[in-house]
Amino acid sequence: MVRAVKRRNIFNRTLARRLLLRISLATGALITLAACIGFYFSYQQAYQQQVSYLVHDSNQRIERESSVFKQAEATAELLGQYFIDSYQQASQSPDVIAAVFDQWFEETEPGVHRLREAFYEGFSPDPEFFSNPYSSEFKHLSVFAGQSQYALTDERKMRIVVALKVVHRLAPSWQQLYENTHISMPENVIVHYSLNHPWGRQARADLDITRYAVVRSTLQSENPERQGAWTGLYYDLSSEQWVITYQIPVDFDGRHLGTPSHDVSLEDMLNRLIDSHESAATHVVLNNQAQLIAAPTSVIAPHEHSGIVHLEHLDNPLYTSIWDRIADTDGEQIFTIDHKDMLIIAHKIPGPDWWYITAYPLWEIQKLALLSPMRFVILSGGFFILVLVILYIFMNQQISRPLRHLSRLAHEVGNKRYEAVTQIKIEAEYQRSEIGMLVRSMQEMARSILSQQQTLEAEVDKRTAELAAANQRLENMAHMDGLTGLLNRRALHRDLQYLLNDQNAKPHAFLLVDVDFFKAYNDHYGHLDGDQVLKEICALLSHHCEGHAYRYGGEEIACIVPANDLTDAIAAAESLRNEIANVKRIHAASPLKYLTISIGVTMMQRGESANDIIQRADKFLYQAKDEGRNRVCGG
Ligand code: GH3
Ligand code: MG
Ligand code: MG
Repeated sequence: MVRAVKRRNIFNRTLARRLLLRISLATGALITLAACIGFYFSYQQAYQQQVSYLVHDSNQRIERESSVFKQAEATAELLGQYFIDSYQQASQSPDVIAAVFDQWFEETEPGVHRLREAFYEGFSPDPEFFSNPYSSEFKHLSVFAGQSQYALTDERKMRIVVALKVVHRLAPSWQQLYENTHISMPENVIVHYSLNHPWGRQARADLDITRYAVVRSTLQSENPERQGAWTGLYYDLSSEQWVITYQIPVDFDGRHLGTPSHDVSLEDMLNRLIDSHESAATHVVLNNQAQLIAAPTSVIAPHEHSGIVHLEHLDNPLYTSIWDRIADTDGEQIFTIDHKDMLIIAHKIPGPDWWYITAYPLWEIQKLALLSPMRFVILSGGFFILVLVILYIFMNQQISRPLRHLSRLAHEVGNKRYEAVTQIKIEAEYQRSEIGMLVRSMQEMARSILSQQQTLEAEVDKRTAELAAANQRLENMAHMDGLTGLLNRRALHRDLQYLLNDQNAKPHAFLLVDVDFFKAYNDHYGHLDGDQVLKEICALLSHHCEGHAYRYGGEEIACIVPANDLTDAIAAAESLRNEIANVKRIHAASPLKYLTISIGVTMMQRGESANDIIQRADKFLYQAKDEGRNRVCGG
C-alpha cells in the first residue's frame, strides 16, 4: 500500500507534472514572444492614439474658447451698433439727455465726474427721464469721466448717458461671459459694467486712460483701419486681475465716439483652458507677438509682472524653442514637436490669432500607452493559467488515471496474478481508446498465459503419474523374484524392519520353509521340473500367507503370518506343511516318497533385529530337518 502511494507520487512528479512543466515552458515562451510582439505594436498604436487624443482634446478646447472669442467679438460689435443707433437717436435732443447727466453724475474731484454710487448698488431713476422696457433698475454700473483736454459739452454728456444706457441695456445679459463690459471714449471716459468692481468709482482721479496702450490702440491716430482687436494679457490694477480685452472702435461721421469692449478674465480662462484634466500637462496661450496670454502659475507667477509678459521674460528654453518653431510655421494651424522628454502640441486659436500650446510629458503618454498592452499581457497570462489548469485536470483524468490503472494491471502481471488481471474492468470512457486496447491486450496475454499454465500443469500431472507408476514398477521389480513371482529377500528385510519399527503392529510369526530332498528331486526329474515344482509350492504358500511369502534363497521360502503366540504360529505352519503334503506329488528320490517341506517357526519380538529372527527360525528349521523332515519345529 505504502509502495503504491509512493509510486503514484513519483508518477505525478515525473510524468504529469513534468509534462505540464514542459508545456508551460513551451507555451509560456510562445505567449511571451507573442506578448512582446503584440506589446510593441499595440504600444505604438496606443502611443499614436494617445497623441491623437491629446490633439483632439486640444482641438476641443480651442473650439470652445474660440466660441467665447467669437462671441466677444460679436457682442462688442452689437454693443457698438446699438451705441451708434442710440447716439443717433439721442442726437436729436442732446440737451435733454445732457440734463440727465447733471443729475446722475457728480464731480468727485476737480474736472472728474463719476456716476453716482447708487447706480452700482441699484437705482431706479424717474421713468420720465429714462424708460427701459427690460429693467428700470440701474445696477453694477460705474462711469469715470476724467480730466481731459476736451470740454464737457452737452454732446459729450449726451454720449456718456447714451453709452450708459446701451451698456445698461445689454451688458447684464453677458455678465456670465465677461469680467466686464465697457465703452471707453477718447476723452478719457469709461462707462463700465461689472458685477465685481465699481471701476468708475475707484479709478484714480488723475487717471488718463488714453495714456495706456490698450485704449490708445483704439484711437484713430493709432488704429486708422478701425479694426476690432484683442489686447495682450495685462494686469488690470483696479479689478486686480489678469485680463484680455476685445475692443472695437466705433466712429460716427468720421469721429471716434467710443470703443465697446469686453474684458475676459484670465481666471475664467485659466479654469477653462489652462487648467488641465491631466495634471501632468501644461497649457499655455501665446499671441503672435510671443506674448503670454494665459499660463498656469507653474509657468508664471502673474503678480510678479505688471505688464504684458513676453516669452523672453520667462527665460525658458522650452518656450523659446516653441516660439522658434511657431515663427517658422507657414500657415500651419497645428503641429507637434518632440522636445526632449516632452511632446508639444501647438494649436492656432482662430480669432485673436493665438497659439494654444500643450506640453505633455512623454512618460505620461508612455504610461497610458502601456495600459493597453499591459491589459493584453495580463489577460493572456490569466488565460494561459486557466488553460494550464484545464490541461492539468484533463491530463490527470485522461492520461494519469488510466496510466495508474495500467500500472496496477502491470503490477498484477508482475506478481503472476493472471486471474485478477483478466477480471479487472476497463472504465467505459477508455474502452475505445489506446489505453483500452492496451488493457485488452494485457488481459488477452494473461488469459493466454493462464491457459498455457493449465495445459502445462495437466501435462506435468500426467507425466508425474506415469513416472510414479514406472517407479512403482521398478520398485516392485526390485523386490520380486523372477522365477517364482514371490517377493525377494530384500523385500523380506524391508517388511520385517517395518513391522519391527511399527509400535502399533499386531504380533506376527516368522516361518522359514525348506523343500525336503530337493537336490535329489532335481537330480531325478531335471531342473526344469524342479523349477516347476518350486513355482507351484511358492504359489500355494503365497496364497496361504496372503502375499507375505518371500523367496529367501534357493528352495527356501520365508513367510510372515499374523499369530498371537507360538501355538498360533505352529498351527499356521502345520497348515502350510499339510497343504503341501496333501498335494501328494511323487518324489521318487525321497525316502518320504512324496514331496514335503520342513518349517522353522518363531514369534517376532519387538526390539530384536531381523537377522536375530531369521537365525532363530533357521535353527528350528535345522531341527526339523534333523528330526526327519516333513515337520514343523519352533520356539
Ligand atoms: P535337505 O532335505 O537336507 O534339504 O536336502 P536337499 O537336497 O534338499 O538339500 P541341499 O541343500 O543338499 O540341496 C538343495 C538343492 O536345491 C540343490 C539344488 O539343486 C536345489 N535347488 C536350489 N535352487 C533351485 C532352483 O531354483 N531350481 C531347481 N530345480 N533346483 C534348485
Ligand atoms: Mg535347502
Ligand atoms: Mg532342501
